[in-house]
Amino acid sequence: MSLKILVESPLLEKPCSKITDMNEGRGIIRELWDVLGETPNAVGLAAPQIGIPKRACVVSTERGRLELINPVIIDASGIIIYEEGCLSYPGKSVITERSRNIVVQCDNYRRPVRLDASTNSSFLEVVCVQHEIDHLNGKTMFDRKTNRSDIMGFADL
Ligand SMILES: [Zn+2]
Repeated sequence: MSLKILVESPLLEKPCSKITDMNEGRGIIRELWDVLGETPNAVGLAAPQIGIPKRACVVSTERGRLELINPVIIDASGIIIYEEGCLSYPGKSVITERSRNIVVQCDNYRRPVRLDASTNSSFLEVVCVQHEIDHLNGKTMFDRKTNRSDIMGFADL
């Protein structure tokens, strides 16, 4: 049986610990895909959202699937204004400001992952990766709130 998605839990405001055992990391990634697969229209999921306080998350868009173990954003530029929702805060949404281009270093990919937003689907991917990495740092979409209104897209993450 898969784990359940935590809703409005204080656990979502705590930074997660680094994964040192890659087998454990791969096991968490499998759990994340299981839960994401059972959640209609879901784009991404981070381990703390299923009650595992470890640094792993997954993202699935038209552009493909990403699984990130110990991800760190090592470079970021540009701005995207988005309206975001979150599986852990159902029915709520926030207008956020995110980076448009990011480079992410992970322990499970040999090279850094470069995400350059140029089309709507790549906007979704780059916003989602930042949203999920925030979850690993105990941050939520509410921490990225902006007063700008020139929204470029919507994502329920
Ligand atoms: Zn979320």
